[in-house]
Amino acid sequence: MMKILVYSVRQDELPVLNDWIQKHPDIQVDQTTELFTEDTVEKASGYDGVVLFQQQPYTDKAVNRLNELGVKNISLRNVGVDNINLDLVKQNGMKITNVPVYSPNAIAEHATFLMGRILRRVPEYDKKIARGDLRWAPEIGREIRNQTVGVIGTGHIGRVVINIMKGFGAKVIAYDIFKNPELEKMGLYVDTLDELYAQSDIITLHVPAVADNIHMINEESISKMKDDVVIINVARGSLVDTDALITGLDSKKISGAGLDVYEDEVGVFNADWEGKEFPDKRLKNLMDRDNVIVTPHTAFYTDMAVHNMVTVSIESNIKLINGEEPDTLVK
Ligand code: NAD
Repeated sequence: MMKILVYSVRQDELPVLNDWIQKHPDIQVDQTTELFTEDTVEKASGYDGVVLFQQQPYTDKAVNRLNELGVKNISLRNVGVDNINLDLVKQNGMKITNVPVYSPNAIAEHATFLMGRILRRVPEYDKKIARGDLRWAPEIGREIRNQTVGVIGTGHIGRVVINIMKGFGAKVIAYDIFKNPELEKMGLYVDTLDELYAQSDIITLHVPAVADNIHMINEESISKMKDDVVIINVARGSLVDTDALITGLDSKKISGAGLDVYEDEVGVFNADWEGKEFPDKRLKNLMDRDNVIVTPHTAFYTDMAVHNMVTVSIESNIKLINGEEPDTLVK
């Protein structure tokens, strides 16, 4: 019988995982809550494939040991492949899949909610209401339909953001290095990022963190933006130079920011710091501001997305084991 081991299983994945297992009695899918490391790789001995998900790096040593154990099929339950050495995987003749699209709406909606909460000044009202102050002023809001929303990156997620923004009646402009023909027909694209910076009241990022995009939001790009700009980043932390963002917030050039990602988030997000010294001063600086909302990389975290991450990764792993080429294969 085909055997698959699923690592780092979270409590919230259990209903989907166990339901899948129950419906597929012909395949043995076992699970562990442990991360995939040099210490836990031995558990994979005797399996045909592993299904993984973690933010921590998959070390070369662990990958090599997996290969020595004869386990050649790796399926990630997420999209990012930046924490595994793909050259090594290839050299070893191993195969790897990811889940490239698990629910663009989850991320696009999160960007929208961050935007809405900033525009309607929810963090300030939350604080006032908690202390019993129910007055309106001075936290007057802004309506999305009166904003020009600049969408950088019109891939799976950016396109959903555009549809949602159009539903609100906003003026949408977009920039992508590869133009989507449908959006082009709608006349949404500007030709340069500088044009997008100059015209947008809200800028929302939906590009990958490839080398060219690191710190694309920096002192220079911020200087080209409109006064009172709102910046939303639910893509990758490294797209934004945090020091430049803080300077822009201090000078009030930037009127607000919604951040689901942060450049030094690994090891800080998805951990409980209550009662402990918070480990990152810059992040604390941002979290303490009334006009900044930080969420700990939760944009993806919906029932729908988790369902797709679990089922697509297992089904991709089965295809690899059967010698087929799933469309989720990382090339
Ligand atoms: P995608 O590959 O479908 O689209 C990305 C788009 O960005 C492409 O159209 C590409 O041409 C464009 N692009 C790349 N570099 C660009 C640049 N310098 N300027 C303009 N356009 C550029 O990706 P996606 O699925 O829409 O994901 C977008 C981002 O969201 C990624 O960074 C991804 O890692 C992130 N993401 C975040 C979460 C979360 O939970 N916060 C979850 C999933 C994905």
